[in-house]
Amino acid sequence: MTALQRPATLTDSFLQGLVARVPSTSGGSWKLTEVYTGDLLVELPQSTPADVEAAFATAREAQREWAGRPLRERLAVFKRAHSLFLDNAQTTTDLIQAESGKNRRMAIEETCDPVMVMSHYLKRAPHLLKPVKRGGPVPFLSTSTEIRQPKGVVGIIAPWNFPFATGISDSISALMAGNAIVLKPDNKTALSPLYGVQMLEEAGLPQGLFQVVCGEGPDVGPTLIDNANYVMFTGSTATGRVIGERAGRNLIGCCLELGGKNPMIVLEDADLEEVVQGAIFGAFGNTGQICMHIERMYLPESRYDEFRDRFVAATEALTVGASYDFGPDMGSLVSPDHLERVRSHVEDAVAKGATVLTGGKARPDLGPAFFEPTILEGVTKDMVAGVTETFGPVVALHRYRTVDEAVALANDTEYGLNASVWGGDLATACQVGRRIESGNVNVNDILATAFASKGTPSGGVKQSGVGARHGDQGMLKYTDVQNLAVLKKQVMGARPGQDYDKYVKGMLGGLRMMRRTGIR
Ligand code: NAD
Repeated sequence: MTALQRPATLTDSFLQGLVARVPSTSGGSWKLTEVYTGDLLVELPQSTPADVEAAFATAREAQREWAGRPLRERLAVFKRAHSLFLDNAQTTTDLIQAESGKNRRMAIEETCDPVMVMSHYLKRAPHLLKPVKRGGPVPFLSTSTEIRQPKGVVGIIAPWNFPFATGISDSISALMAGNAIVLKPDNKTALSPLYGVQMLEEAGLPQGLFQVVCGEGPDVGPTLIDNANYVMFTGSTATGRVIGERAGRNLIGCCLELGGKNPMIVLEDADLEEVVQGAIFGAFGNTGQICMHIERMYLPESRYDEFRDRFVAATEALTVGASYDFGPDMGSLVSPDHLERVRSHVEDAVAKGATVLTGGKARPDLGPAFFEPTILEGVTKDMVAGVTETFGPVVALHRYRTVDEAVALANDTEYGLNASVWGGDLATACQVGRRIESGNVNVNDILATAFASKGTPSGGVKQSGVGARHGDQGMLKYTDVQNLAVLKKQVMGARPGQDYDKYVKGMLGGLRMMRRTGIR
């Protein structure tokens, strides 16, 4: 292995400055390593439950002042942040690569997500957060106004696979709406979100409003949920269940963005050239660690062999390696532990009769967590990889005879996060897409078209999640509705001494009249 040159931006003082933001009175720390080499990057302070409580107290105080500012002023911070994030995209990319091991092409794409989210909500927030006057029960004499109040302090728990996007993007609409944030990133990938917070403060976000606490999930998670007014969680379905249960006990809302076992259906009339290109990204983009990536591919009998041969050839042409330039097609998995999970799925499948068409092995010669892009055939539901999310560069090919069978196979899972349908006739492909039980469906694409459509809510169904990010609900979920009702004159109910039969007759007649005229 040739010695890898760490980017010049990642100096010790820069990294120390980032981790100094983490409240930690315990003195305990976690060794945050450069994934490509396993070398120490920085000692990450660990927060105690008391530190988490203190972070909430600080955030809550800052939130009162922030929520009192006019929306225009709050949005001005994000106008400046939008430019700052773009100006510093290469530094953010260096951090993301060092802590996650992904290739540079994916890391730079990730830096664009918060920017796109900011841009969308900068346009949309004034409309969504404006008080809306509705008619009261008595025309002309009463009003009801729908007012959007911030929830307070939002707790965000983020995974390691897109640490900058999930840590920062999900906070933007909450902050614009007047909330404070306490974020718990994964220990492995705390640096890029910490840098995101630093940039937001440079853009004018008040100090203390956005706190980052660090620690293992079970150590700091419960205190975070118990102090939050709302929880935004992204991670595995198993952890999502734990978070949802606790939020439910506390009677606070939560949004859970969870795992997937995402299918791709290729229809007879699809352009195979494009399908193969899409399949490469779907299976191996971000080293197969995208929640919306593809782990199951369904091909019509008539096109299976041709697709398989072209897909295998394209996969074998991929370059895999550790590099801070845009060279490699695929990077590392996030950690040796995760490599073991991926390897165990492949070994289990092979032991139960699956065939490895290409790949299937770790590549310790490239770094401690590299695994080859892997295509399997003959995967069945008695194999772990047949039913459970592998979350690595491993995909299974399947044949189908009829479109009905393909749809049934695609839906034969407890997950419902993303699906991809490829076809020449768009109307037919869309019809097939509508039959898939999935929160996101991409026609002639893998995932980016749905995920980058920031105006449309994006979330999972079945065991893949509750609620959504993006779209109007991606901001409104961080608000409570206050119904401010005004009665200009006491005209409801019987007047003192009024004959009640007469009053009831008038009231029922009034309801009939309002229905007939459409006033109410
Ligand atoms: P994970 O569930 O293990 O961890 C996610 C986060 O939860 C981490 O910060 C972790 O420290 C924390 N956590 C763990 N146990 C906790 C507890 N008891 N209380 C509070 N917090 C706790 O998931 P992961 O392995 O980091 O991420 C990969 C998973 O995330 C995959 O299943 C992937 O599909 C999913 N994911 C989903 C989306 C989506 O939008 N649907 C996006 C990215 C990743």
